Amino acid sequence: MTTAKKPSSRTRRRKVSAQDVLEYMGPEYGPVEWHSRYTPAEELVYTILSQHTSDLNSGRAFNNLMKTFGTIEGVADASAEDIEEAIRRGGLARQKAPRIKQVLAQIRDEIGGFDLSFLAEMPLEEAKAWLKRLNGIGPKTAAIILCFSLGMPAMPVDTHIYRVSQRLGLIGPKVNAEKAHDILEPMVAPEDVFPFHMYLIRHGRQVCKAQRPRCGECLMGWGCPTKPKMERAAVADARKKAKRKPAAKKRKAS
Ligand code: SF4
Repeated sequence: MTTAKKPSSRTRRRKVSAQDVLEYMGPEYGPVEWHSRYTPAEELVYTILSQHTSDLNSGRAFNNLMKTFGTIEGVADASAEDIEEAIRRGGLARQKAPRIKQVLAQIRDEIGGFDLSFLAEMPLEEAKAWLKRLNGIGPKTAAIILCFSLGMPAMPVDTHIYRVSQRLGLIGPKVNAEKAHDILEPMVAPEDVFPFHMYLIRHGRQVCKAQRPRCGECLMGWGCPTKPKMERAAVADARKKAKRKPAAKKRKAS
């Protein structure tokens, strides 16, 4: 990891802002390039498959689903049992198959097909509201579809973004993940929403990990309000381990 530019004494005294995230993390994790990987309906199905499972398994399940039925229309026409069979390797297939079947049926009932590209023509809030009316679609899934498939300035908040934002003090400790979408998204200009999202994810994966964040090498350490607490916890952890070692050695010797 490269070292961030040295903060001035002024930055050391103030709270971290979303603009700081862009400014400090941009050179580290950028540039990021947006490209649409799936159609909105495919993205929706992929997002259902990605819940509570790894990217690897959800990717395999999605690929197998599309290989089996060919198109989203084919998936919608299949029985829940056949969908379940096709997505088995992704985990939780019994719960996810009927959800996929149901939401696709709902979309077809409403618009007579699966072309959701009209959402890109709507104001962002309207597009979100349209998606959130669908069964089982919450703010995160709606934001994923609008952001990743249609390139709209929606901010999906995953577990990494939620954790890093809280630790940096961008959102309060009592803000839940659903509310975090509405708070974080307007913090930056629309054209910066996607990089803001990507930088926070990368930071959460590489540095501000759930267990043992690497505060010592964090480029936001100058203003992170959680850093002192994390460092105290790391010291206490190291002391505990050091105490355990001689006891373990003694046991071995006897
Ligand atoms: S200083 Fe530590 S807790 Fe704060 S953002 Fe960096 S890694 Fe996370």
